Amino acid sequence: MNKRFWLVIRQGIIVSLVFSIILIGGCKKNSDIGKTSEVEFEVETDTDSNSKLDESSDKKLDSNSDSSSGSTGDTADFYQLEFSRDSDIFARINGKSYKADCTIPLSDLRYLHVLYIGFDNETHQGEIICNKAIADDLLEIFEELYDNSYQIEKIALIDEYGADDEASMEANNTSCFNYRTMTNSTKVSKHGQGLAIDINPLYNPYVKGEGESMIVEPTNALEYVDRTKSYPGKISHDDLAYQLFTAHGFSWGGDWNSLKDYQHFEK
Ligand SMILES: [Zn+2]
Repeated sequence: MNKRFWLVIRQGIIVSLVFSIILIGGCKKNSDIGKTSEVEFEVETDTDSNSKLDESSDKKLDSNSDSSSGSTGDTADFYQLEFSRDSDIFARINGKSYKADCTIPLSDLRYLHVLYIGFDNETHQGEIICNKAIADDLLEIFEELYDNSYQIEKIALIDEYGADDEASMEANNTSCFNYRTMTNSTKVSKHGQGLAIDINPLYNPYVKGEGESMIVEPTNALEYVDRTKSYPGKISHDDLAYQLFTAHGFSWGGDWNSLKDYQHFEK
């Protein structure tokens, strides 16, 4: 009886020892896996921000003088840059959104870097060119939108679409500056001055007239003309973008009477 008892105890000890070894091994493995993926993630983000810095290294220098002049709202991810004719930024817009006959001095324009949440719920980097008069407003608004996970499809320079409004709108791209005069006029439009911005334009089209004579821009936005429908990215009076832009003194094209431009905010 006594011998049997000790045998059972010994077996018990051996079994628990084996279990402990397996358990410790398993935990170690798991924590190793965790660390590895963390390191990989860090490396990835580092590479990402490095390439971002490389891309804008020459402009960053310009912004130092700018931020010392007292501009507000600049953070590491939401910042504005002044740019010159020999900059990479100008090379990207020259002859596209900044046309040969552009009457807006380059010194009046700013390049903005922002972050935004896409409809994929991921963080993306956005680029905007706007008038210096609204640069601080836009930085503050886009940071607030980002902090509230407001979804935006894309924020790229319209130059990536050959400065073609229709192409940019069809791609649901949010954009601001694109030099042009108003139809049948020499007056520079609000977008031409960099004082207007279009947000998620596919989901928030420009609509003029009714029935057969109705004009909808972009042309692929017909299903978003009915504003009684509810869907993500729709701008209405309840929408955060509307609230932020109007709080910053912008007017909304959705409030116009002669036509509706639901994507459009201007100052
Ligand atoms: Zn617009």
